[in-house]
Amino acid sequence: MSAILPDAIDPIRLADEGSSLEGELSVQAMPRLRELCQNPAAKVQVALRFDRGTHGRMMAGTITTRLGLTCQRCLGALEQDIVAKTRVVLLQAGESHPVLAEEVDFIEVAAPVSLPELVEDELLLALPMTPRHPQGECPSPGAGRAGRPDTDAVTSPGPFAALADLKRKQ
Ligand SMILES: [Zn+2]
Repeated sequence: MSAILPDAIDPIRLADEGSSLEGELSVQAMPRLRELCQNPAAKVQVALRFDRGTHGRMMAGTITTRLGLTCQRCLGALEQDIVAKTRVVLLQAGESHPVLAEEVDFIEVAAPVSLPELVEDELLLALPMTPRHPQGECPSPGAGRAGRPDTDAVTSPGPFAALADLKRKQ
């Protein structure tokens, strides 16, 4: 496979042809993702298959990258591997959703579709809500919070608080 990916694709036609796309994109081409990371020159590996299966036209594959994020515990730099495994049914405008037994996502596509934008959408879905170093592995614990101890364990009121609340209402 060529490593040069097209900017615009027609996913419906690719599925009809049973084509694959493999190659590299840059985070530079993804403005929403670029804003969230500290290494906009990062590469994104794309491996997508398009075909027609029992569910209709499908896009499936894996999108991987390594982003420089900010740890929400210590506010330090955090290198994180992002792996977006995608499997979606492609619908043309106006095409109705087939009823499926298993849970499969649908996306409606109208050619041409921007490949960087499609890949960016999948990566944004795969990003952690609050990126953090593993517990106890921040390089400088509390650095961003003036040395306060880690308060994660006590931020939730816990089941007893809810119980107390219930009792008050009786
Ligand atoms: Zn950290």
